[in-house]
Amino acid sequence: MRKSLKLLNYLLMIFITFQVHASVIQNSDAPKVVVSIKPLYALTYELMRGVGEPVLLLQGAADPHHFSLTPSHVKLIKESDLIVWIGPMLEHFMVKTIASKKKRDLSLMSTKGLNLLHRKDSHGCILEKACVAPNSGKKDDSLLYLKDYTTIDPHIWLDVHNAILMVQEIGLNLAAIDLKNAKIYRDNTHRLVKKLIAFKDTLDQKAKSLRHFHFISFHDAYAYLEYNYKLKNSAAETVKGHDKPSLKAYSKIRDLIRKRDIRCILVDPQHPSGFEEKLAKEFKMSLYTADPLGINIQAGPNHYFILMESLIQTFKKCQYKHKKQSHSPKKHHKTNPHRHG
Ligand SMILES: [Zn+2]
Repeated sequence: MRKSLKLLNYLLMIFITFQVHASVIQNSDAPKVVVSIKPLYALTYELMRGVGEPVLLLQGAADPHHFSLTPSHVKLIKESDLIVWIGPMLEHFMVKTIASKKKRDLSLMSTKGLNLLHRKDSHGCILEKACVAPNSGKKDDSLLYLKDYTTIDPHIWLDVHNAILMVQEIGLNLAAIDLKNAKIYRDNTHRLVKKLIAFKDTLDQKAKSLRHFHFISFHDAYAYLEYNYKLKNSAAETVKGHDKPSLKAYSKIRDLIRKRDIRCILVDPQHPSGFEEKLAKEFKMSLYTADPLGINIQAGPNHYFILMESLIQTFKKCQYKHKKQSHSPKKHHKTNPHRHG
């Protein structure tokens, strides 16, 4: 009985979800545009302003690293005029459906001119300047900037330069599938690019103080922020993607925390490893929630801006907290102050 009720609830949920999607699309003769994740949805939403609204595929807390399409998702893709996604590196679950339905898809990972970063297996440094050990001033010479698609960090939207290029690419594709509204897409692209350029300046300014700020996150998603703002996720050397660290990796991370005196640990609500709380307790670190998709930020035109800003804010909050502590007279190790700035 309970089982059948559960099934009924599930079917009802699918039905409602689909109805919501369907009503958005059917109310106008706008092209049917399906977007995979929230940050891309935000940009596409703004580009379609005055014509229609795109449909977001991964609703709520759905995780692109572990996701399977429901029949209603497949139907949406089948009926779409354009699919906007990052590419197989992130939304692997879409590859088969897109290929079999032969739909027009825009894999943004192949946009020309993007900054694409990857980490070498054995090393977590992505840029020389990001890899300066906080207390030594010594530079690390393993520089990485290779365009090997299989190991590229797919969280490419966390670079505003990439977002600008992606907006232009989406705008061109919208104009190509919907010629009569081409001028609107062109104007929207122009406006959004201008806004993003100004936003990049502001964000760069805000992030300036984060140089050489070291943190721990078991979700290796921040390469673009690390590269642009010279931060460092010290756990990235030992974890892969968003995998839970092995016991060996865990002990290596504990050594790094001690050695580099790292004070901040980020937990991703989509990939909690369970180790974050343990480490925070053991080393009296500050634990903050951060997620590269912005699942808790409302979907819509401002999502992207709020997401980027809130990530920088989170880093700064943690940095500021420990900066203050290191100058506090209560601190015992006066000769060895924290250096996160
Ligand atoms: Zn991720």
